[in-house]
Amino acid sequence: MEKFSGFKLIRRALGGHQGWGRQWRTPEPKASYDVIIVGAGGHGLATAYYLATVHGITNVAVIEKGWLGGGNTGRNTTIVRSNYLFDESAGLYNHALKLWEGLSQELNYNVMFSPRGVLMLAHNIHDVQSFKRHVHANRLNGVDNEWLSAEECREFCPPLNIDASTMRYPVLGGALQRRGGTARHDAVAWGYARGADARGVDIIQNCAVTAIRRGPDGEVQGVETSKGFIGARKIGVSAAGNTSVVMAMAGLRMPLESYPLQALVSEPVKPVFPCVVMSNTIHAYISQSDKGELVIGAGTDAYTSYTQRGGIHIANHTLDAICELFPMFRRMRMLRNWGGIVDLTPDRSPIIAKTPVKGLYVNCGWGTGGFKATPGAGHVFAHTIAKDEPHAINAAFTMERFRDGVLIDEAAAAAVAH
Ligand SMILES: Cc1cc2nc3c(=O)[nH]c(=O)nc-3n(C[C@H](O)[C@H](O)[C@H](O)COP(=O)(O)OP(=O)(O)OC[C@H]3O[C@@H](n4cnc5c(N)ncnc54)[C@H](O)[C@@H]3O)c2cc1C
Repeated sequence: MEKFSGFKLIRRALGGHQGWGRQWRTPEPKASYDVIIVGAGGHGLATAYYLATVHGITNVAVIEKGWLGGGNTGRNTTIVRSNYLFDESAGLYNHALKLWEGLSQELNYNVMFSPRGVLMLAHNIHDVQSFKRHVHANRLNGVDNEWLSAEECREFCPPLNIDASTMRYPVLGGALQRRGGTARHDAVAWGYARGADARGVDIIQNCAVTAIRRGPDGEVQGVETSKGFIGARKIGVSAAGNTSVVMAMAGLRMPLESYPLQALVSEPVKPVFPCVVMSNTIHAYISQSDKGELVIGAGTDAYTSYTQRGGIHIANHTLDAICELFPMFRRMRMLRNWGGIVDLTPDRSPIIAKTPVKGLYVNCGWGTGGFKATPGAGHVFAHTIAKDEPHAINAAFTMERFRDGVLIDEAAAAAVAH
């Protein structure tokens, strides 16, 4: 694998950027693998990377129906944070956040992780109580989170309007996680793809999984794909919004609903916005990309669907809220919008687990907020597949919790949890 460095970048720049090599191969599928991962999003690619680097399992294929990173990984608004309420969530998301902090070095690929702070606004007494509860719970779990008054919010984020006389939903304060921020989503997929490929993992794009073949005892034997049958004794599914469809191929009905979730970006402007701001109550969140575009996200559509497009009224509602919170953006033009398909569980926490089908594992249910978990989820999902048992960090994130009622109910944190 070609090693990147500042020195090499300068040398290649002086030579007109000629001679950069391909970052991963385009292999034809082999007849069989030790492990097949369905879905080359960040989660699937990270899983393959950690199977190879942590567990020494390199006879792995990642099978992707489109192009790698073309699902939710390349469509999200890139917010990274770990201030969820329950102990199990704190363990999982903080594991991910710690991996983010060293990820560019680990992958020798700049994922542009930028811990610029994530500020979650409170607009009513319920928000205040709920966020203060989060602050206390997070601190008990060693996760940084602090309460700011409205004036302190304004100090942290100068474009924020806190003049209650001009707002439907006044800002009463906010919870700030300083270690939170953003990362470049494509780079995350590319960095993991490059690292996994260099260790022998085959990434097979434009290859849809159409069926899961099972043996006489119900165990998995491999997958039927648009490029033919590919054998494997272990299959890990990381297919986000399509998880229910893929798992139904093995006869499993998942506790998931798939909804469109959309985002939009503005024309680029000079750096004006120093952090990430989220408002769960009025359904809007915003940051500024390194290119200068304002990156704005909305809530999910009200109806289940597999379209990668959201309703126009949802975008309008979000922009109303953004203009009220940040009046200086009122005359900005939006450049483009798009949608992804998010897979929601009833308690808004993910499933990372073995399934009742021997050899079949699933990592799903990340809904509107799984980008932030990419390194951590890949790491513990690889462990679950390699050892055929969960890592301590994902032990609680089973499918059975919906049968047994042992929920990890993050719905309050996840109202628009990105
Ligand atoms: C608009 C939007 C904004 C978001 N904002 C944030 C945010 O700010 N922060 C955050 O933490 N999260 C956010 N999320 C959620 C986050 O993007 C996802 O939870 C996360 O990217 C899921 O990663 P993944 O690798 O599991 O899924 P994906 O990247 O969707 O990868 C799954 C892959 O599986 C492939 N696939 C599906 N079916 C098959 C098949 N039959 N055969 C082969 N391949 C198949 C798909 O093509 C896809 O590439 C957002 C999501 C959206 C849509």
